[in-house]
Amino acid sequence: MKILVINCGSSSIKYRLFDMNTETVLARGLIERIGLEGSRINHQPAGKQKLKWEEPIPDHRVAVQKALRALTDTRYGVIGDMGEIDGVGHRVAHGGDKFSSSVLIDDEVKKAIRELSELAPLHNPPNLVGIEAAEKVLPDVPQVAVFDTAFHQTMPPEAYLYSIPYDLGRRYGIRKYGFHGTSHKYVAQRASKLMGRALEELKLVTCHLGNGASVTAIRGGQSVETSMGFTPLEGLTMGTRCGDIDPAVVTFLMEKKQMTVQEVNEFLNKECGVLGISGISSDFRDLEEAAARGHERAQLALKIFAHDVKKYVGAYVAVLNGIDALVFTAGIGENSPRIREEICKEMEYLGLKIDLDKNKVMGEEKEISAADSRVKIWVIPTNEELMIARDTREVIENRGKM
Ligand code: AMP
Repeated sequence: MKILVINCGSSSIKYRLFDMNTETVLARGLIERIGLEGSRINHQPAGKQKLKWEEPIPDHRVAVQKALRALTDTRYGVIGDMGEIDGVGHRVAHGGDKFSSSVLIDDEVKKAIRELSELAPLHNPPNLVGIEAAEKVLPDVPQVAVFDTAFHQTMPPEAYLYSIPYDLGRRYGIRKYGFHGTSHKYVAQRASKLMGRALEELKLVTCHLGNGASVTAIRGGQSVETSMGFTPLEGLTMGTRCGDIDPAVVTFLMEKKQMTVQEVNEFLNKECGVLGISGISSDFRDLEEAAARGHERAQLALKIFAHDVKKYVGAYVAVLNGIDALVFTAGIGENSPRIREEICKEMEYLGLKIDLDKNKVMGEEKEISAADSRVKIWVIPTNEELMIARDTREVIENRGKM
């Protein structure tokens, strides 16, 4: 079975074609600047040379056509024709409380994704454009929506409700949804495999630490708490997002600096986080370099980030009444020994002890806990695309079954 995974942004499409018999990537690509000047395609067939070219791509439908043309090209393609594609899996940002798992896309599902755009105005609309483009180009192929929020739908009300008037919260859907669900789910499943223990019997805390960052408490394979909320702004300090702050800061700032709703939204999402603290960059590689040179605010930004993660890990260990493993993933979680060390230091009380030598690892699956650590600590590179492809296969295979 071959599954095409599509992740559609406002002016870009990432695609990856999987052979699900072996769970291998046949080709991957990125189409950028759709509808803009300088549209370009990066196409990488497995085992063949990477290609890059520029050509006008006016809209997402043409972009999907180009991706398929690249995949079926006689020289750099990887399949004979489009008929070989058995399903398309779409990453969709927000499924609200309507979707607790991946679903086959029909008119009802598209309507719901459209209605949920109010909660994810930057992401759901382009996701829907990608779905409609793929439907036009591959009309007979089943399309599946995989939601970033779905995994967290198992949270109990005491975790997902905000203390605002109950009816108001319900009327407007104001509650914690959580994000990065596909990634947290993937690394939880991997941890269970690597530890040789059933997911149902494991208590895990998973840390997705990338440009956006979130921590999740997982009991028996189900999310019971997560740090992102109504939007991806809540929780940890991130690259450019502020994470948890007193909500009164928002009204204070709006009054002091005469900021509009849009301005304050941009500010909290794009000018805060480690960028705001350090004043130099949101990229942890830059910050670690600057910190090593003695840049005090870069050092401070890294400290704040590690402190935030530690605080959430502690809270979630309490929620779960102890854990079996702590998992690090995404750009920073997979590649920064320094941050992992900072988070894990002085956590012996909770049963966590890192092995500094093993912790030197970057970008590969590895246990990094000390031999006498009660809790295992793992680095597990995430693979959201594979998770989307697996869900897509499952939904397609279970079609019609009740
Ligand atoms: P992601 O959003 O998962 O792509 O992660 C992006 C973040 O990972 C950026 O802040 C990068 O600086 C960070 N990152 C990637 N590689 C490294 C590295 N070798 N050391 C520290 N941070 C890294």
